[in-house]
Amino acid sequence: MEKNLTISQIKNAANEAYQEVKNLTGGKNANYIPYLANVDSNLFGLSITLLDGTCINLGDTEFKFGIESVSKVPTAILAMIQHTPEGVLEKIGADATGLPFNSIFALLLENDHPSTPLVNAGAISACSMIAPQGDSEDKWKAITGNITALCASAPVLIDELYESETATNFNNHSIAWLLKNYDRIYDDVDMSLDLYTRQCSLGITSSQLAIMGATIANGGFNPVSKLQVFDKEIAPKITSMIASVGFYQHTGDWLFTSGIPAKTGVGGGVMGVMPGLFGIAAFAPPLDDAGNSVKAQAVIKSFMNKLDLGIFKGDKIKIVAD
Ligand code: GLU
Repeated sequence: MEKNLTISQIKNAANEAYQEVKNLTGGKNANYIPYLANVDSNLFGLSITLLDGTCINLGDTEFKFGIESVSKVPTAILAMIQHTPEGVLEKIGADATGLPFNSIFALLLENDHPSTPLVNAGAISACSMIAPQGDSEDKWKAITGNITALCASAPVLIDELYESETATNFNNHSIAWLLKNYDRIYDDVDMSLDLYTRQCSLGITSSQLAIMGATIANGGFNPVSKLQVFDKEIAPKITSMIASVGFYQHTGDWLFTSGIPAKTGVGGGVMGVMPGLFGIAAFAPPLDDAGNSVKAQAVIKSFMNKLDLGIFKGDKIKIVAD
């Protein structure tokens, strides 16, 4: 079916979804990283960026929260820019694990293969692939420079979060050394783990994440900065990875009920990509038992349902001016 959507319809749906979910309770802040446990649980923001550069922001959309696992997306893109999508497929994989984000079992089951750059094992492996090899500071500049290009503004390291994560990331140490055992770490092990921990500790806003989502939805062309950030061919590759594992063991349920590929982080952020239409991001710290923000999920689902949108619907949608 061909359908036109006006910008006002989109704004109204966003507003209604936001009001509907605003007072939703349930879930708990992540508590295995001390910093995250203390973030105000009432914060709530919803941002949408359309491909003409229109930005819709409701609530706490300028609050800098921990990007956490959403950072796996830009670094996977950077690894594909530097090594081609096929290079990443060969060295890491593009498969769903169906298991929690920090699963060691997933790595053992695959018998040497991290599966995808969007779980902890594959993300640590992706950090090890980033050029220039052996140079932590320049690798860091490449990682943050890429996030800046995708968001059209820079993320900021939350020092307290970085310290908090570094002091408690024992499970990730095990994953990193297991990767080394399987020859899936392509640089120094400790440096690769440190880069992963640091990228998870970046502060980001929902308005920045919506722009990142829109850049992916727009074939790598950032609709706000008007710059081409990555080759068009990478967009469907990263979107397929997001679709297959963005919500870890709940990815199927998420896609079934929301109709939009999205990536979560334990900081409370969710970033969605609607190819050819928009990027969407929501943020609220309390998480469900799989580590996914309760309110962010609810508001994105509500928005999608109100406009009857979904990547599997097969509708040809055009966003038009009012
Ligand atoms: N830094 C977190 C970890 O590695 C990220 C987890 C997530 O957001 O899913 O445990």
